[in-house]
Amino acid sequence: MSRAVIAFGANLGDREATIAAATRELADTRGVELVAVSPVYETPALKEDGVDPDAPGYLNGVIVVETSLEAHALLDLLQAIEARHGRVRAEHWGDRTLDLDLIDFGGRVISDERLTLPHPRAWQRAFVLQPWLDVEPDAVLTGRGPVAQLRAAANDRVERR
Ligand code: ATP
Ligand code: MG
Ligand code: MG
Repeated sequence: MSRAVIAFGANLGDREATIAAATRELADTRGVELVAVSPVYETPALKEDGVDPDAPGYLNGVIVVETSLEAHALLDLLQAIEARHGRVRAEHWGDRTLDLDLIDFGGRVISDERLTLPHPRAWQRAFVLQPWLDVEPDAVLTGRGPVAQLRAAANDRVERR
């Protein structure tokens, strides 16, 4: 079994309903057990140039699971759940009904065309680090250090829902 940290984000449609359904679908998958679901944060949309005040805001959080799946199989599952909830990949970092990113998978380091672990941008994202810290105060991001320290250094805005 491996412990995996999954970050969710949604800024289109009924965000709460989508996140609730996605969480249920993960929990209902054979070989996946929910360990923790974080509080949810309201965050501004970030684009290449920074905050986009015209884009709808996000709900973000993390889900910790124990799984017997391999990392790539878990990514397949996350992408299938995104697709089921109407995720369309148009513009890079564009608005979306659901984003499910694999942040950490048992501390593994992977870099191939489909999967980079740990997630290469998580270390600087308060919208990932804060909810992760809420459910795992002692968490460490492989190669980057304690999540608490990374969170203190991150400066994007997150607001508890
Ligand atoms: P960001 O990765 O900056 O949060 P994003 O979530 O909007 O951006 P997506 O469009 O969801 O990016 O994913 C683009 C590609 O990233 C996917 O096709 C997937 O194969 C790849 N990818 C690589 N590493 C990961 C990971 N750790 N978690 C999720 N997707 C990953
Ligand atoms: Mg993402
Ligand atoms: Mg993604």
